[in-house]
Amino acid sequence: MPAPQDRDSATTLLVIEDDDTIGRHLETGLRGQGYATTWCRTGKGGLAAARAAPPDAVLLDLGLPDADGIDIARELRSRLPDVLIMILTARTDDIDVIAGLDAGADDYLVKPFTLSVLLARLRAHLRRLPAGHDDRRETYRLGNLVLDTRARTCFVGDAEAPLRSKEFDLLTVLARHAGAAVSREDLMAQVWDENWFGPTKTLDVTLASLRRRLQQAATASRQPARPPVIATLRGYGYRLEEG
Ligand code: CA
Repeated sequence: MPAPQDRDSATTLLVIEDDDTIGRHLETGLRGQGYATTWCRTGKGGLAAARAAPPDAVLLDLGLPDADGIDIARELRSRLPDVLIMILTARTDDIDVIAGLDAGADDYLVKPFTLSVLLARLRAHLRRLPAGHDDRRETYRLGNLVLDTRARTCFVGDAEAPLRSKEFDLLTVLARHAGAAVSREDLMAQVWDENWFGPTKTLDVTLASLRRRLQQAATASRQPARPPVIATLRGYGYRLEEG
């Protein structure tokens, strides 16, 4: 049974996945959505992590280097009767999915899947967990910037910056990681999703437009305000800083 949660505590996820690319994207993508995420590359490591800090949900790859994911699912279920277990499988055989569900998994996703679909499934399952789960942060403040992700409003000082949808999503990801570098790949994965490995010119265009709108809002603000700075890290990505 997951420990009773404070209203303020984040939903905790454990990712058990040996593929570096998938594991890294899941870790970054899920953290970007406010989930406290731990990533383990082996079945044994995953079981140890679940023992040390029982998570709310486990995303479990079936093909692991040291164990069969189905055995891991069975073990997790026996130790944590109420944990949500979602199998991530590249296997297309129905028999694996059936075995996984019989072993105690709640749901499964067949690779390749998009982050959007995974997040939607997670939300659907987590809604049924007791109150206190899925407490997503809604407002980010950084200097003169106030970003309300529920109302989807962005203020610099007292002036609202009229952001387009992707500009808002991009700023939200940067605000969640304020002060930390976010790679171009991670921004693409979290804001555009389907273009994980696609061209990133659209990112440059959206970012330039976002900077312009933030600057315009700062200028329009009646109380003196500086826009946040989106620093460019050459060859890597961006970092949001206080203006
Ligand atoms: Ca694998």
